[in-house]
Amino acid sequence: NRKIVIVGGVGGGASAAARARRLDESVQITMFEKGPDVSFSNCSLPYHLSGLIPNADDIILKTPEQFKKQYNIDAQVNSEVVGINSKQKFVSVKSTETGEIKQVSYDKLILSPGAQPIMPKSILGIDQKQVFSVRNVVDIKAIQKYLTEHDVTDVAVIGGGFIGLEVCENLVEAGKKVSVIEAAEHVLGTVDDDFAQMVQKELYDHGVNVVVDDGLSRILEDKVQLFSGKEIPAQAVIMAIGVKPETDLAQKAGCELGVTGAIAVDHNFETSVPDIYAVGDAIELTNMQTRQKTKLALAFPAQMEARDAIDHIYGRSNANKGVIGTQVIHLLDINVASTGLTETVCQKNNIEYRCATVIPQNRVSVMPDTSPIFMKLIFSYPGGEILGAQALGKSDIDKQIDVIATMITMHGHVSDLTHLELAYSPWFSTAKNAVNIVGLVAENILNDEYRQVPITKVRSLVEQDAFIIDAREPEEYVAGHIKISHNIPLSQFRQRLTEIPTDRPVYVHCQSSQRSYNMVRALDNLGYTNITNISGSYLELCMYE
Ligand code: FAD
Repeated sequence: NRKIVIVGGVGGGASAAARARRLDESVQITMFEKGPDVSFSNCSLPYHLSGLIPNADDIILKTPEQFKKQYNIDAQVNSEVVGINSKQKFVSVKSTETGEIKQVSYDKLILSPGAQPIMPKSILGIDQKQVFSVRNVVDIKAIQKYLTEHDVTDVAVIGGGFIGLEVCENLVEAGKKVSVIEAAEHVLGTVDDDFAQMVQKELYDHGVNVVVDDGLSRILEDKVQLFSGKEIPAQAVIMAIGVKPETDLAQKAGCELGVTGAIAVDHNFETSVPDIYAVGDAIELTNMQTRQKTKLALAFPAQMEARDAIDHIYGRSNANKGVIGTQVIHLLDINVASTGLTETVCQKNNIEYRCATVIPQNRVSVMPDTSPIFMKLIFSYPGGEILGAQALGKSDIDKQIDVIATMITMHGHVSDLTHLELAYSPWFSTAKNAVNIVGLVAENILNDEYRQVPITKVRSLVEQDAFIIDAREPEEYVAGHIKISHNIPLSQFRQRLTEIPTDRPVYVHCQSSQRSYNMVRALDNLGYTNITNISGSYLELCMYE
């Protein structure tokens, strides 16, 4: 019988094993995992820290016994694959408990060893007992135990990516004072600065001390020191500055690495060594849009790659188009999601683009618990191909981002969004979904129907002493407004046209860009040639830190 050996028993590894069994009842499947658990939900790990998942063992989805009984898969834990003989086709497996080494032969080998948290040795004090990273159930149990048994009030989370932020959220829920230290200009590199500012405000509003543009230099017993010299109290430190693909084993077997340093694979996830496949966080992928090599440490790609690799072994073709990096996180009271290219990536790659930003409600405003959806669509200019989107709000904004992700995968155009028929009742959406609305605005921009600048440019407008109209009602203006702005509400402007200059640029904003957009269109139709809409408007401005 054919023998498939799998290295790593979680995201990609367990998926590969299950797929192989579904295709072939006679194949002998052995899965080696160096840790004590297989098939756990890595993504649920942070939720143990808040108590949302009270028992860490519940994060384990399947035990080796269940693998055996349900799938006839031999899942061996505490078993580290330490060598591969690709000529004679066997692996050397070391028991992490006894140190004993055995050899196991294979016909096809699947590597899914994942990626390890980066723990730079150059950081003084990184080896201390209060410093942790989050990769598996053992780690999360160790953190929880430390927090419970020691007098920890302040925790420093190093790194503001999605793992760092999820850990931060759960520590806040657990009542800890949390600092997030991020070396880049803003947290969550998967969104642009405008959306990251809103994320940072959410953190500030929940008492999180957010430090950006600064890195960790030293860890002391009850504080950390940053490059700037700043000191932050911390009796526990969680390292979440990124992950490094586990490539050592593959390299020892002669597998080539790609330009990103991850394991190079072909369309079918086969490495440069025959009969050795690699999937998951350890491999190099192709970005579907830029065609550049990339890494993407996410669960869905790992599982699909595993399925594709097994399918290839069984002579099936696969539809591997590359990745677009769709992701979503829940953070305190908001959700943040993104897909495709960001503005930053477009700029780096000299891709000519435009953005449409809208702030519609998540459902009809007379319904309970309505809240705004902040949504930005990025599209090629003048072509109009959908390149990316970002969304943020209290509602389930993953719906909007998933629709856009589908469109990107199908090479959709902004005009495809305007007539997209999506499910609607007042509970779920507005009749025109945020996806339709952002498409309509994008189409207007593409057709040069009117001029607009993003709200992020408002500071420079204020400095230039531009004429800014606030199209909201007087009571909204009194409650807070952009300094130097003139309150000419949409409901009054037709009677107050003489107040609107014709000899200097005029910018119009409101609460969500809807009233300002209507005023801009009306003024354009009245013959004004100097009117520009401010997209994002006051609501987005208020969301900035
Ligand atoms: P893993 O699932 O990490 O599995 C690799 C396994 O291989 C490890 O258990 C390791 O011990 C084992 N191994 C390594 N070397 C050997 C060896 N030589 N011998 C035997 N075993 C070995 N992704 C999302 O899409 N959404 C999320 O919300 C999300 N949240 C996350 C939260 C956290 C805290 C973490 C850590 C990850 C999260 N991810 C999320 C990422 C996702 O879990 C990974 O992308 C996915 O698990 C990758 O699968 P993998 O098989 O490549 O690696």
